[in-house]
Amino acid sequence: MVDYIIIGAGSAGCVLANRLSADTQTTVLLLEAGGPDSRREIHIPAAFSKLFKTPLDWAYETEEQPALDNRKLFWPRGKMLGGSSSMNAMIYIRGNPRDYDRWAELGNEGWSFADVLPYFKRAENQQHGASSLHGAGGPLDVCDLRTVNPLSQAFVDACVESGIARNDDFNSVRQEGAGLYQVTQRQGQRHSAAAAYLRPALKRPNLGVHSNAQATRILFEGRRTVGVQYRQNGTNAEARARREVILCVGAVNSPQLLLLSGIGAAEQLKRFSLEVVMDLPGVGLNLQDHVATGVLYECRQPITLAGAQSPRHLLDYIVFKRGPLTSNVAEAGAFVRSQPSLAGPDLQFHFAPVYFANNGFDVPPGHGFTFGPSLLHPESRGQIALRSPDPLAPPSIQPNYFKCEGDLHVLLEGLKLSRRLAQAKAFEPYRGTEVRPGAAVQAEAALIAFVRQSAQTLYHPVGTCKMGSDPLAVVDAKLRVHGLEGLRVVDASIMPNVVSGNTNAPTIMLAEKASEMIRQ
Ligand SMILES: Cc1cc2nc3c(=O)[nH]c(=O)nc-3n(C[C@H](O)[C@H](O)[C@H](O)COP(=O)(O)OP(=O)(O)OC[C@H]3O[C@@H](n4cnc5c(N)ncnc54)[C@H](O)[C@@H]3O)c2cc1C
Repeated sequence: MVDYIIIGAGSAGCVLANRLSADTQTTVLLLEAGGPDSRREIHIPAAFSKLFKTPLDWAYETEEQPALDNRKLFWPRGKMLGGSSSMNAMIYIRGNPRDYDRWAELGNEGWSFADVLPYFKRAENQQHGASSLHGAGGPLDVCDLRTVNPLSQAFVDACVESGIARNDDFNSVRQEGAGLYQVTQRQGQRHSAAAAYLRPALKRPNLGVHSNAQATRILFEGRRTVGVQYRQNGTNAEARARREVILCVGAVNSPQLLLLSGIGAAEQLKRFSLEVVMDLPGVGLNLQDHVATGVLYECRQPITLAGAQSPRHLLDYIVFKRGPLTSNVAEAGAFVRSQPSLAGPDLQFHFAPVYFANNGFDVPPGHGFTFGPSLLHPESRGQIALRSPDPLAPPSIQPNYFKCEGDLHVLLEGLKLSRRLAQAKAFEPYRGTEVRPGAAVQAEAALIAFVRQSAQTLYHPVGTCKMGSDPLAVVDAKLRVHGLEGLRVVDASIMPNVVSGNTNAPTIMLAEKASEMIRQ
């Protein structure tokens, strides 16, 4: 029997494992379905997409998307120590301060930007030092890229030329503008939540870590959570918790595991002959994700990341941890408004000095670069649901991309802006032909068809165990599951609305905040 069982060693789970076990009087068990994070491609920043569809990836597939030519989309999710923070693109973005103020306005006390800022700072070890908005000395290294590709610089210059203001810190009070991303790296290597939080805590005698241990059910006595059933190396095992079980398995698996444990819409549970522990209709609903498209150009100079694996660059990386292999691929970006009348940005750009289409699987030959506009505030909502009562089977993932037509039209504006940026003077030394959608694609209907055919996830699913007090909320503002004792959900699934940006730093922040709430 331990005090706390944490399920899932991803971005959130690693933070909790560290913070809760810091109290030597407290015993903590961390269960992770995946294995260790030892593979080389985890640590070499530019190699992250090489992890897709390997055993370190859950490699999910969505249901057919009617608005995307009935395609099923690939959804990578990290399955190893560090979870998705061990395979993400390392961009450090907090979102717009207004995102958190909206969470608070929805009735979630303690979640306004002013409330959460101390937790962002507590997590952070900012290369440029501490300030009113940044932290130094925290576990997570946040730094500038060691090597910036000239094309990424050209992207920022092209934005400025086109009237988008330069922004040297997207995580300051003003998010809007164009600049280079900061990344979660330490000395040219990925700084995942496992590297930042878990590794320093591994020697503590009061922290146990079981990898290759997949939780299959949460156990209850009445409404009180008492333990977890899991499967490790082909056998079933059980662990008991004195105080709490904390679910950190991410926006896909947290609702799945709740459903498998009898928590969710009674009707869905009965369909799979699962005993109803708590009729909570919101479990799995409110799924939100950022969706992106790609505008690809040939590059007339052989300077892109396509050459990153040359012997010279490999040596540079091995000896000095410098050069293009330290690139996070999406090096530069911008937050812009699709309409000047909007109160804030509704589009985010990821610029990659290399071809990047279909999750990096479709690589045209030669050198190229990619504009990746993505939608910040999707109106469409989807759902995670059970497909089977088998805990080892994947759940049904229905993101409903572009179910609300307006979403498609915002992304279309992003595509058009990408083309305007590509024509800027800054790209003149580099720009070759437009590879995708291709210069011949000009009519509105053809552009819409391209968006439907090319759209992909930007890997930010959230919201499926949302925090709140309305009938569809799953957890309260202290992240306790409504109606049950001793069970919290702490991961990206609790966000009521997706933040305006990448979701790793916000997840680490919310786990920092949860650790304090739990310890109180
Ligand atoms: C390819 C990719 C690129 C991304 N790029 C960026 C980026 O550049 N910047 C950014 O901010 N965000 C990025 N993200 C998103 C970000 O990484 C995630 O939002 C964040 O890691 C989510 O954290 P989490 O704790 O909710 O879940 P995860 O980190 O996914 O952790 C969940 C953990 O639970 C484990 N697990 C699942 N089911 C079980 C079970 N039943 N039993 C035990 N363990 C289980 C999983 O194996 C995993 O380790 C990216 C994500 C991906 C996949």
